[in-house]
Amino acid sequence: MHDEAQQSPARQLEVVGERLQEELKRFSNIEALGRAVDLAEAENQLRDLKDVRTKFLGKKSELANLKKSIGRVAPEDRASFGQLVQQTEATITASIDEAEQSLKKRVESARTERDSIDVTIPGRRPRPGHLHPITLMRQRIDDIFVSLGYIVEDDREIETDFYNFDALNIPEGHPARDPQDTFYTTEGFALRSQTSTVQIHAMQRRGAPVRMIAPGRVFRRDTPDPTHNPMFFQVEGLCVDRGITMAHLKGTLTEFVHRLFGPDTKTRFRPSYFPFTEPSAEVDYSCFNCGGQGCRICKHSGWIELGGSGMVHPNVLRAANVDPEEFTGFAFGLGIDRTCARIYELDDIRLLFENDVRFLEQFR
Ligand SMILES: [Zn+2]
Repeated sequence: MHDEAQQSPARQLEVVGERLQEELKRFSNIEALGRAVDLAEAENQLRDLKDVRTKFLGKKSELANLKKSIGRVAPEDRASFGQLVQQTEATITASIDEAEQSLKKRVESARTERDSIDVTIPGRRPRPGHLHPITLMRQRIDDIFVSLGYIVEDDREIETDFYNFDALNIPEGHPARDPQDTFYTTEGFALRSQTSTVQIHAMQRRGAPVRMIAPGRVFRRDTPDPTHNPMFFQVEGLCVDRGITMAHLKGTLTEFVHRLFGPDTKTRFRPSYFPFTEPSAEVDYSCFNCGGQGCRICKHSGWIELGGSGMVHPNVLRAANVDPEEFTGFAFGLGIDRTCARIYELDDIRLLFENDVRFLEQFR
């Protein structure tokens, strides 16, 4: 191989062209390797190509030097050498232009790819939520009573002693007021231990007559076990009007269980005691599963407990500014989660509060 300085100017031009072709190879390498087009890489290459253009066509390029040397070429070769220089310059320019075009295209397509969404890829479906079994149960209960002309009331979960106890005829010293059984917050306030508190608010707000139900959370100091939880759901019912009797209470709850469990469901009232009702009764309904024959769900008794009920105590009416001489009423309280657990045959009531998705998904 000769030293470059000793090569003829024509040969030198040829070498410049060859070197350029060598240099341009790396700009087509990405495609040759079949790699995905990377935007940053393509942009870098476009910048590098500018340097190549300067190197081969700039003022300090070899080609520029060769152009300057035209004058030194022997006169008889000058014209053809000049032509050769021009041709080489045109070829080099065309090659670099071509590489630049293809790089620009690559940058463009990389940008499009980055900014576009492939509509053919299956999307991630949002998982629609669904109602909690307690909410479903509550809605069924609400629907039945609303169709019987009851309004649905809601109220606070932290109550004063007056609403939680005094107004409900639960005097100082009554076991229900024991700190063992109730969550006290600050002095004079407690988490409500029954939804009966809403009765008082509703009567104070609306006066009599009134027909309302109040579904909601209540709190008692229980150690959690399969049948107990310190927080659970009740629905309270109240009907106050002139001439309301125990017969209305029995008729209403009988209609309720007919609608909830079917028209053959029977009710049973057992005498009981609650401070806020007089007389008071526990209400049972015949098992929806065995119809009273006895089965696992009703623990072979044929009956399932619905809740407590009774005629509103005159003291309760008075506490809510309703005249017990003019008005009478009945009230009842039903356990929503308990009923829910029965219907779905849950062995452990805590399943309803743990919010384990594997459990809840069954109620879709
Ligand atoms: Zn049964």
